[in-house]
Amino acid sequence: MTERRLGRSAAFLDRDGVINRDHGYVHRWEDFEFLPGVVEALRRLQAAGHALVIVTNQSGIARGLYGEADVERLHERLRQHLRGIGIELAAIEYCPHLPASTVPAYAVDCECRKPAPGMILRAAQALGIDLARSMMVGDKSSDIEAARRAGVGHAFLVATDGEGEPDALSPDLAHLLRLKLLQDAVEAWLRPEHVDAGPPARLTEATGATGATEAKDATGATGATGATRAADATGAIEP
Ligand SMILES: [Mg+2]
Ligand SMILES: [Zn+2]
Repeated sequence: MTERRLGRSAAFLDRDGVINRDHGYVHRWEDFEFLPGVVEALRRLQAAGHALVIVTNQSGIARGLYGEADVERLHERLRQHLRGIGIELAAIEYCPHLPASTVPAYAVDCECRKPAPGMILRAAQALGIDLARSMMVGDKSSDIEAARRAGVGHAFLVATDGEGEPDALSPDLAHLLRLKLLQDAVEAWLRPEHVDAGPPARLTEATGATGATEAKDATGATGATGATRAADATGAIEP
């Protein structure tokens, strides 16, 4: 049961709809609106020793809506803002591609646009991340799928903005918990019994959860009432 801890763990976070409100193709700091509880959630993840890595599809670039320079400028502002309040982002990875783009340079069937795992793998390589001990939070099934393909051990799907259900999940991912905000996922992830969990828990689906869900693990034990228990994807989904 003792497990050798090799690399550092990371929290891979989608950007739009997880960190900031997804107004659609956000590319200016003036339009960047943090979702509730995000700063505190980042702080808690960092304090627990997880590298903070943003992985974001930015097809607005391939669609000609804005340029890479805009995205990089926005990300630099974000980094500076967070650094000013003591939060350090280990990496921000973005994918500018879209196969159907009319801009040849971006009309690429790339390995980084989620659900492809390229951004996660790139950051993991650069930072020496132990993917199995890491987690992903996204608001689309493509985020969760990218995590699965990369070998990220834990994933959380959030539905922000009170817009109801997140993307429909593929059937094999239906056991993932659906939460409302990043802070709910962090709450679940940082629960002590989860961090040092033994066998992976197989969870029942918690549909429409808004932070107060309960799930059953493989042994039949249940999490505390009113709390959220993390989905441990290791061993629960086929690679
Ligand atoms: Mg998103
Ligand atoms: Zn790409």
